[in-house]
Amino acid sequence: MGDFVLFILMLPHKSPTPLEVKVALLYDGLQIPPPILTQLQAGGHIWNWGRKGGAGPAGGRYFKLVTPSSSQPVIINISLQSQRSQHAPLLVQKIEGVNWTIACQTETYCTLELLPVPRFHQQYIDGRPAAQYVLLHATDCLATTVNQRCIYWRGGQACQFCGIELSLDAGHTVEVKDSKHILQVLELALAEVPVTHLTLTIGTQADESRGIREYIPIVQNLKSAYPDLRIHTQFEPPARAEFIHQLRAAGCDSVGIHVEILDDAKRNEYCPGKGHLGWKDYIRAWRTAVEVYGVNQVDSFILIGLEPLSEEFFARIREMCTAGVVPYPVPVREIPGTAFVVPEVNLDQLVSAHRHIAKLMKEAGIEPGITTAGCVRCSACSAIGEAIIELES
Ligand code: SF4
Repeated sequence: MGDFVLFILMLPHKSPTPLEVKVALLYDGLQIPPPILTQLQAGGHIWNWGRKGGAGPAGGRYFKLVTPSSSQPVIINISLQSQRSQHAPLLVQKIEGVNWTIACQTETYCTLELLPVPRFHQQYIDGRPAAQYVLLHATDCLATTVNQRCIYWRGGQACQFCGIELSLDAGHTVEVKDSKHILQVLELALAEVPVTHLTLTIGTQADESRGIREYIPIVQNLKSAYPDLRIHTQFEPPARAEFIHQLRAAGCDSVGIHVEILDDAKRNEYCPGKGHLGWKDYIRAWRTAVEVYGVNQVDSFILIGLEPLSEEFFARIREMCTAGVVPYPVPVREIPGTAFVVPEVNLDQLVSAHRHIAKLMKEAGIEPGITTAGCVRCSACSAIGEAIIELES
């Protein structure tokens, strides 16, 4: 199990709200005790731990929180592979079919429904499983990294929390995806699951468009084949605004321009390659994107846990909301295969930060419920949707 790492157990509350459950599971992950693992692997069943690397929060499986009351399904991308999850205060107490009873110490805490891995992942296209081109994320979102290489990995300048090239080096994906393969997977997926939107990500490329140029033909081809399919793309601020316009003209519906860390100095520390981009560069790109895609159609991941949740932090959240951008707080998680260790954060602080962000969004008229495509619509990696519902109830 590697070096001994001290985990300070902060126990989640008894009879928690969906917001508190989701934050605890997103941050700490879930522990699968050996007897339960044996049960999962009974009869030679190969337990699927979820994707190991790649862009975004990897190393987990998708679950639905079984809640008697809540109208909105609460979908959670729960970490199962990280060191942190191996010591998580929340553990699997028993499994009955797809229903998992979760305990906190000895007390039952919640029930989760495990979402199946779709069969199309294992169907072959040009000699490779479809999952090596595109994956189903949560319930209705297909996601793929169209170029798995990032310039910052070249010079050892990668973001410390990123695992984008790990899945490529492990042979779990292909370097560059083209619209032909994405379309073939989409057709297979539509035969099995109700796909409504697509998330395209990319490693930052050296050209002025930072990779946007690679998206344009893919978006055009997908939209001409499936005009109603909603498409989301993610990229770092490009050198010129025209690329953001060109992507819209190609048919893109919403975008993610992820600042990830609000404090410039902290961002520089965790993202040495991207450190050349300052807050003003993100504000400029967001403003252009909001003009082009509209309010609530531009978002940014905020990796909660890497910087103080200070007044300055929330002042920048307010600035984002005022610019028409949806802040998407994601509790930072360790990606298996990276040396990155997640800093300790108090769960109550994390929950109250979500409540504060939801309040600032409300004040600025930011409504994640109307984002047409991408992570905000998917919601599996953040509890901001639950914080908004709690605020409105
Ligand atoms: S929010 Fe959904 S689409 Fe985005 S990375 Fe998480 S699971 Fe994937």
